Amino acid sequence: NRQITVAALPKGPLTPENFDLTETAMPISQAGEVLLRIILMSIDAANRSWMQGATYRAAVKQGDAMPTYAICEVVESKSERVAVGEIVSAEATWSDYIVLPAHKVMKMPAVPQLSHLMSVYGVAGKTAYHGLMSIGQPEPGETVLVSAAAGSVGGYVGQIAKAMGCRVVGIAGGPEKCDWVVKTFGFDACIDYRAEGLFKSLRSACPNGVDIYFDNVGGVILETALNLMNEKGRVVCCGAISQYESTAPTGPRNLPGAIVVKRLKMEGFIVTDFASQDAKAIRGLQTLIDAGKLKVTEDIVEGLENAPAALIGLLNGDNKGKRMVRVSAD
Ligand code: NDP
Repeated sequence: NRQITVAALPKGPLTPENFDLTETAMPISQAGEVLLRIILMSIDAANRSWMQGATYRAAVKQGDAMPTYAICEVVESKSERVAVGEIVSAEATWSDYIVLPAHKVMKMPAVPQLSHLMSVYGVAGKTAYHGLMSIGQPEPGETVLVSAAAGSVGGYVGQIAKAMGCRVVGIAGGPEKCDWVVKTFGFDACIDYRAEGLFKSLRSACPNGVDIYFDNVGGVILETALNLMNEKGRVVCCGAISQYESTAPTGPRNLPGAIVVKRLKMEGFIVTDFASQDAKAIRGLQTLIDAGKLKVTEDIVEGLENAPAALIGLLNGDNKGKRMVRVSAD
């Protein structure tokens, strides 16, 4: 059983030296437990933020196996709750196999494609849906701005907003990615944050200002977006990827001024806060897929051993759509 552990916590940008691939004994299940074969592991910006210290979950420490959300098959069960052969989701680690208490795994519904449980019906799709609908509360005709627009969460946010009749503007790294966002997801525009003049470019792409800013990145881009917000606008604080590798975090300098003057609402959330509404989110996403209004984009890296490179790449913007690692066949 292979496992990837944290060899040393990063002090700046993550490198392959921060990880170790080790061979461990096959885990053995006890009464009430299940042995899981990991099929797909989610690669998330959050993996890096957990290495910064305690957040909504305990910090990842040196020597820990890297935690991950995974889709798995039950290969051995010593519990009546779950049967061998069932497909489940679980909080696992970067490894081939893992043993967990049966009450900690969740049975998954049958889907045409297993990877959809990780992308559109997984954390990415649910984060986009709950954050936009419950916190952003878009109205037709409003302008929605979303950062990390070519990523998994951002791509779904923009497509859902577009389906609701909003003007949708993305922010992404590089002209090629921006072009891809417009062509693939049907955004009205997408602005390259690495180019000069971000404020001016966004202002011309949002001639009526911004009503909802869905923030995946924080820092300077958040500061710029706040300057474009309309009165009574909503800022959905989903993540701050620009800060996860930074040793000198940069926050917006226009707080709380912009919020006071423009009567803005700025609200953070963690996707699990809305767990009781997940079924509704999944129905909503499914309806949009069936209507041809939501494209599912996935970025699958093959092989457990490539998980560190997959995460480093995600933090550097290599991915388009939901990045995951395939550990074993469906
Ligand atoms: P994505 O698939 O969106 O990939 C991350 C993207 O972020 C990269 O592709 C890169 O694209 C962009 N990026 C990287 N560095 C920067 C930077 N310095 N400035 C601007 N953009 C940058 O990843 P995730 O779906 O895992 O995460 C997206 C965000 O959502 C994260 O902030 C994450 O923490 C958050 N999140 C929050 C959840 C919640 O419950 N609140 C749940 C899940 C995710 P580019 O080439 O455009 O730079």
